[in-house]
Amino acid sequence: MIVGGDVGGTKTLLGLFEPAADRLLRVVGTYSYATNAYQSVGEILGQFRRAIGAVTIDAAAIGVAGPVVGNAARLTNVTWDITASEVAGALGTRRVRVLNDLEALAHSVETLTAADLHVLHPGLPRSDGNAAVIAAGTGLGEALLHRVGSRLQPVPSEGGHADFAARTDREIELVRMLRERYGRAEVEQVLSGPGLVNLHRFTHRGGECQMLEGVADGDIPARISQAGLGGRCQQCADALRMFVSAYGAEAGNLALRAMATSGLYIGGGIAPKILPALTAGAFMDAFLAKEPLRDLLEQVPVNVILNQEAGLLGAARYAQEWAGLM
Ligand SMILES: [Zn+2]
Repeated sequence: MIVGGDVGGTKTLLGLFEPAADRLLRVVGTYSYATNAYQSVGEILGQFRRAIGAVTIDAAAIGVAGPVVGNAARLTNVTWDITASEVAGALGTRRVRVLNDLEALAHSVETLTAADLHVLHPGLPRSDGNAAVIAAGTGLGEALLHRVGSRLQPVPSEGGHADFAARTDREIELVRMLRERYGRAEVEQVLSGPGLVNLHRFTHRGGECQMLEGVADGDIPARISQAGLGGRCQQCADALRMFVSAYGAEAGNLALRAMATSGLYIGGGIAPKILPALTAGAFMDAFLAKEPLRDLLEQVPVNVILNQEAGLLGAARYAQEWAGLM
């Protein structure tokens, strides 16, 4: 059996998979844990190990929301370290890889089916180009998929912590607010759940918002997007519009950096929840507004990944190949 994991700042998903024909994997079971409710990844893995019972685990790969160096990672938004030896001890297999979460998600891209995706822009997909993945959730992740022969090779990045590039006077004002608050303006401070809260703070300056009364901290970004989508608060709708436009612009930046003529994929937990806003036009308008390279970006297919277990599947797929379990 193969274990795939996706350790996020909010949710940790673990899945048990069985190698099937044609290098595919069959899902035996998936398990979800609230990351913040545990002290360490070992504690979650121990609970998972008891839940799956006495099965032999041949290999495991865990995607982690943070930079991975030397098969170990420190999570960016949770104060944890994750090492391969800790995972190995908890799962009882020596074949363990720790991956960046977006790198893991990128490993799923070539196996996703039409049912897993929502097409935002069909483009003209090329079979000889690169691809890229961007994912706003608890944080912002970005990964490139570099074309090597007929395969796409995922390459992790920490692009979410790169500088936020303001395009308008209003976004320059937003950068001022972020610099006052954090010292610098990272893309993630705009494009993530906490980023949406920053935009909410920005659009509600000098005004009250009734939408967040009695809402638990962790549920605030979802409440802002619901209020924005439903038009129940004009400033919440404004915050969501700014979010969608900045998301499209950053996806366009990533597509340019990667030369992603095989496809740009939008993962993460936020996109499926704000799909009506993403399809309304502002996302693609900002994505394409990269003159003089608009024509190039018109060719790039843009897809939202709807399958929230894609990261898990990608990690398991990586473990399967890495351990030679075909
Ligand atoms: Zn509001």
